[in-house]
Formats: sequence, C-alpha cells, structure tokens
Amino acid sequence: MKQKQQGYSAAFITLESGDITASQLRAVADMAREFSAEGRIRTGFVQDIVFRWVKDEDLAKLYAKLLEVGLANSGALTMASVVGCSGTTSCNLALTNSHRLAKEVQRKFLELKLDEDDDLRDSTIKISGCPNSCGQHEIATIGFYGGGGRLGKDMYPLYTMSLGGRADGNSMLGLITTKVPTKRVIPTILKIIEIFKSEKRSGEVLDSWINRVIEGSGGPKIKSINDIKELLKPVVAPPTIEQDPDFYVDYGNDGIYHAKTGRGECAA
Ligand code: SF4
Repeated sequence: MKQKQQGYSAAFITLESGDITASQLRAVADMAREFSAEGRIRTGFVQDIVFRWVKDEDLAKLYAKLLEVGLANSGALTMASVVGCSGTTSCNLALTNSHRLAKEVQRKFLELKLDEDDDLRDSTIKISGCPNSCGQHEIATIGFYGGGGRLGKDMYPLYTMSLGGRADGNSMLGLITTKVPTKRVIPTILKIIEIFKSEKRSGEVLDSWINRVIEGSGGPKIKSINDIKELLKPVVAPPTIEQDPDFYVDYGNDGIYHAKTGRGECAA
C-alpha cells in the first residue's frame, strides 16, 4: 500500500491465524532492519504484520526475502485474511478450534482465488471459539462463535453465525443468523457468496449487499435474512454419526467432539 510520503510503501504480511515461527520472526527482524526506514515492524488488527517506510524500489527485494521464509502468502487485507482466536489450541474457555478453522477457510479462499475477487473487497470473516469476542466475530461481515450441537446422544462442534457486522463509519454488530456445524462452515460461506453473486446489483460488494438485506431492502429474490436462512438449511443439516463420522470431529482433533471448558487464560 502506498504511503502518502512519496516513494514509500507499507507492506502487509498475512499470517494464518496470526501464527509465525521463531525462525520466521528472526528473519522478519532482519528484514525490518534492512528494508524499513523506521527499523521495526508493527502487528496489525487482523493478525497481520506491517512493514512501514519501505522504499518502493525495495518492495521486490522484500517480497523475495519473505518468499524464502514462507511469509509471502497472497490475500493480505482481503476477505481471505481470516481472523481466528486461539480456540481449543490453547484457551481453556474454548468450545471449538476456531484457530484451525480460520486457517482452513483462508486456505480454501486462496485455493479458489477469492482473494482476487473485487466483489468481496472490504468484507471480513472472523471466528471466535466461544461467545467471548477475542476473534472479533461481532464486527465481521460473516462472523462465527463456537459452541456444541447435538443429534440424539451425539455431540458435534458448531458455530453461531452472524452477518453484517462492521467497524467503519456505520459500525454495527453482526445479526445472529443461524447455527452452522463446523464441518459446514466453508460450504456455508461459499453458498452465501453464490447467493450474493446471483442477487447483487451492478458494482455492489458483499458487505453492502448483506447490509441491504438486513435493512429489508433486498431483492430480487432474497428479501430478508430469513430468506438466506432458508437457502442454507440443506447445507447446515446434520447427518447421523453413521452417515458421516468426520462431521462429529473438530478440526485439529482425532476424537469425537465433547464440549468441555476450564479456567480462562486470556482477557475474557
Ligand atoms: S475466551 Fe477468547 S480466546 Fe478463548 S475461545 Fe473464547 S473468544 Fe477465543
């Protein structure tokens, strides 16, 4: 991104759920000293890293160095840069592995090249592993917080999905829309994008379309959030454990899902 100071740019490095290794951090420190005129990096609001004051003529060299250490992922500052809190990877309050789910969604977006889709610009996906908001889900265009669902005696991981959250001049919390089983989160997001593509007005982006529907000005076919919920029903319907055992296993786990929490270790 160009800075207002002529000849300088800011470079945003997207990470998977904010993860970075110690050796990558050492490499980033070296790069900051070599390429940033302020000699330091900043961590961003969406689990990213920002190099400021990079001379325009050094951008290609910086990119090559990032590539060497596996930090040149595409999709920074796009909907593909999904935020996920630590979830069950380290948080005792977590009900689901939001950290891993955010990575899975990001990888699918990059695989489908959705980071290059201008219709999705300014839209966000943010995921928390419980109703607390460390994953910022309430201000996401599509937000999720973790919980547990049950079919008969069998439990499965799921998320409550909200739509239309935003943190701009018209800030609002997302509208709780429906429950989405963990293993149906990616199909649900893709279905919402498919519906949007068939409904959007010329030049309209996803974020604006969702807010238009929430305000009751949708159309031609999708007039309200309830219409979106109806179309999502087949996507989110749970199969039995015999039909699909993997549905009952959270990402990053081997065993059947059980909701269990302990003492919290984060700010919540
Ligand atoms: S308490 Fe915070 S970090 Fe832990 S799962 Fe909930 S939202 Fe995530």
